Amino acid sequence: MKYDVLSSKAEEFISHEEILATIEYANENKYNAELISKALDKAEALKGLTHREASLLLACDIPEYNERIFKLAEQIKKDFYGNRIVLFAPLYLSNYCVNGCTYCPYHAKNKRIPRIKMTQEQIRREVIALQDMGHKRLAIELGEDPINNPIEYVLESIKTIYDIKHKNGEIRRINVNIAATSVENYRKLHEAGIGTYILFQETYNKENYEKLHPTGPKHNYAYHTEAMDRAMEGGIDDVGIGVLFGLSTYQYEFAGLLMHAEHLEAKFGVGPHTISFPRIKKADDIDPNAFDNSINDDIFAKIIACTRISVPYTGMIISTRESKECREKVIHYGISQISGGSKTSVGGYADPEKENDSEQFDISDKRTLDEIVRWLMEIGYIPSFCTACYRAERTGDRFMDLCKSKQILNFCHPNALMTLKEFLVDYASPETRKIGKELIKRELLNVPNEKVRDVCEQHIQEIDTGKRDFYF
Ligand code: SAM
Repeated sequence: MKYDVLSSKAEEFISHEEILATIEYANENKYNAELISKALDKAEALKGLTHREASLLLACDIPEYNERIFKLAEQIKKDFYGNRIVLFAPLYLSNYCVNGCTYCPYHAKNKRIPRIKMTQEQIRREVIALQDMGHKRLAIELGEDPINNPIEYVLESIKTIYDIKHKNGEIRRINVNIAATSVENYRKLHEAGIGTYILFQETYNKENYEKLHPTGPKHNYAYHTEAMDRAMEGGIDDVGIGVLFGLSTYQYEFAGLLMHAEHLEAKFGVGPHTISFPRIKKADDIDPNAFDNSINDDIFAKIIACTRISVPYTGMIISTRESKECREKVIHYGISQISGGSKTSVGGYADPEKENDSEQFDISDKRTLDEIVRWLMEIGYIPSFCTACYRAERTGDRFMDLCKSKQILNFCHPNALMTLKEFLVDYASPETRKIGKELIKRELLNVPNEKVRDVCEQHIQEIDTGKRDFYF
């Protein structure tokens, strides 16, 4: 099919032929120092890279250029995102699902796991447990089931979650990860005040996609792949994409991911707000070894670094699917958000006993949120619970403009410090609190604008007197 970045048809903006030609071009030129150096210069000038240029860097097999890729990824992360890492938790509302995804234990034929759909009261208990950990930002997750999980249930649950105020806790941003749906439903989600709409492509390879999703509405490759276009049409301008690494070759997925980003940017003037990097994990009746495209940690790190330099203004997410060691390795190459203290079972926060019954996949990083916060500070990052951009309506292109003008340091940095202070006062262990207070004192000096710095310092003191929810 002819490649057309502006087309509304999945098979034209993610053209199979263009991906194959891209991979061939990248392989043929993986020792071509001149071409590689040219692409690196362009990335260094923060101009972003096309899928062809990015794929060339991913294939690059010259050690000194690979070193430059990683260094540049670190530099871009520092320049645009500073040393903040935003924290969130997934919240599974229901694992009823009519699809047949062969890698997911929630597939309809799995009779071994209990099916649970939380009532609003159960959701309230879960959210209070999450608030008591210190979370302010959630990603809600549901299986696809028009009867059990209709859009009305999702909307009612969002309202329930936003309305819960327990002690000093509140959920200030709800991102939503539900199956591809209609423009009308995306409009409803937008009106309900969601943050990012997240949908993983799973794989961009249509042939594999259809085999991996043999039954159910998710089988429809075009409907799934065009979902972000419909979300944008429905008014959602922060969308999050990703592939499930392991399902097809990583070269194919990487080119597809960047073509998807290019398509959204070309058609709507704003690329994806985030890109997630999940890898297949063991789960109830799922053996990751049954999928032959798994990638090792080194390739995973290179994918992350190449993405960072190709789309410098896009947030990048890594979940607790990855171990502490792996997260510690890749975080430096451009990750801006991580989950912490996560449970992937329905009802697993309020009732940890349930954890293994309905878990979606095995978690590798099992540390508590307090431990994650402390670890981040110990390795040089500022844990942030900030949700300000979305609440100040800095979404879509308005967020991108802020990011491009490097003003993020006068907004996100102080917001990170103020939300970290709330966490320290309300939820942290004494040890974490001690490290955090020292970090805030040091990091305040890095707020570039003097007036912003003074106001930030004043708010940080006011948090000690019981005030909450300051943001720029
Ligand atoms: N049901 C929704 C859909 O179809 O898009 C999304 C929710 S699902 C709970 C979130 C994501 O978990 C999926 O998109 C998939 O990429 C990922 N996932 C499923 N099985 C997995 C496994 N065994 N290991 C790691 N991630 C998995």
